[in-house]
Amino acid sequence: MDFAYSPKVQQLRERLTAFMEEHVYPAEAVFEQQVAEGNRWRPTAIMETLKARAKAEGLWNLFLPESDYGAGLSNLEYAPLAEIMGRSLIGPEPFNCSAPDTGNMEVLVRYGSTEQKKRWLEPLLAGEIRSGFAMTEPGVASSDATNMQASARRDGDEWVINGRKWWTSGASDPRCTVLIFMGLTNPDNPRHQQHSMILVPKDTPGVTVVRPLHVFGYDDAPHGHAEVLFENVRVPYENVILGEGRGFEIAQGRLGPGRIHHCMRSIGMAERALELMCKRSVSRTAFGKPLARLGGNLDHIADSRTEINMARLLTLNAAYMMDTVGNKVAASEIAQIKVVAPNVALRVIDRAIQMHGGAGVSQDFPLAYWYAMQRTLRLADGPDEVHRASIGKHELAKYVPREALRGR
Ligand SMILES: Cc1cc2nc3c(=O)[nH]c(=O)nc-3n(C[C@H](O)[C@H](O)[C@H](O)COP(=O)(O)OP(=O)(O)OC[C@H]3O[C@@H](n4cnc5c(N)ncnc54)[C@H](O)[C@@H]3O)c2cc1C
Repeated sequence: MDFAYSPKVQQLRERLTAFMEEHVYPAEAVFEQQVAEGNRWRPTAIMETLKARAKAEGLWNLFLPESDYGAGLSNLEYAPLAEIMGRSLIGPEPFNCSAPDTGNMEVLVRYGSTEQKKRWLEPLLAGEIRSGFAMTEPGVASSDATNMQASARRDGDEWVINGRKWWTSGASDPRCTVLIFMGLTNPDNPRHQQHSMILVPKDTPGVTVVRPLHVFGYDDAPHGHAEVLFENVRVPYENVILGEGRGFEIAQGRLGPGRIHHCMRSIGMAERALELMCKRSVSRTAFGKPLARLGGNLDHIADSRTEINMARLLTLNAAYMMDTVGNKVAASEIAQIKVVAPNVALRVIDRAIQMHGGAGVSQDFPLAYWYAMQRTLRLADGPDEVHRASIGKHELAKYVPREALRGR
């Protein structure tokens, strides 16, 4: 394994870092202020400015491995770039690299028809529209994707869709014009072939964005996470992606790469929290000493550095395996970083908060918001426990037949 940055990646790292320093970090306060003014669910002018600038500089669609649509980077090459973007909560969007659009674009690139690509992928790649992924439902345990009850019934040349979804990230954003709905279409099929993914334009009659949900009190505007009701929503039959009953297959393909982006960004956020922690610890004095020299604070800094480096290497290893042996063989490694990255980021941010005292939980520092965001990642693309179960089964499969582990 060689994790050294290639000249191409090193050059992109330098350009991205310069862009973040020159444009993104100074825009954080402006973004917050623009969201706070007037309608919170309106796109901000500053984000559109950042997008135009990044696009003009060619720092655009850096994700999308194995595709002519992206920048031609492998997962391993993209990892250090996503880490840099993850240093700011507004970091990924200027480069058109934010969730859930990256995962949705990957779905369309891999499984979309020519027509679906033309209508939805092209404007998404151009950053003209945004998208949502409507899988989770309030009524069922959604960590098990085969549980979904919202349905799509075929009626001639159309689907008729009914059901209630929630946590559809981005659905409250007016730029979000299409939802990938996952629902029950073939209840008589085997368990993993009962669901389909269907493209639903958000303005289709019968689609209601009911309310934005809060995360620890943050509404995450203007992106947000919405409850969405589908009542007799009719869309053309050809809006199904890949084919009937293939939703679970797509979900598996989508969530692996999607979540590895989250892991890389979590490491960037942890790195920035460690920076804040160090700066605070050497610039503030208590009991006659800098905070860094009190109690176990030096240990907290050392543990944070060690854990970040471990998480980064584990993530690069998962990315390397995705590139070399494929997502299926790399399943355990992907699951490992899904557990490790947000948990490491949470521990580092928590220590940084502690080092800041009361300031750490106030609005004067980003740490409280970062903490809330990282905590949601332990649920957002599947709870830790589901990933642990997958790692555990993978280990046990070395000793007993896989069939013996099914359903445990
Ligand atoms: C901020 C945020 C953004 C999100 N964005 C989206 C989105 O864009 N689109 C979308 O469709 N969904 C989204 N989600 C939803 C997310 O995917 C679900 O919350 C997650 O899959 C868990 O489903 P659930 O909430 O129904 O929990 P449940 O399935 O009810 O699980 C509850 C708990 O049960 C335990 N549990 C479950 N399975 C196991 C197991 N195998 N072993 C041990 N314990 C287990 C875990 O502790 C788990 O947390 C988002 C969630 C959040 C918080």
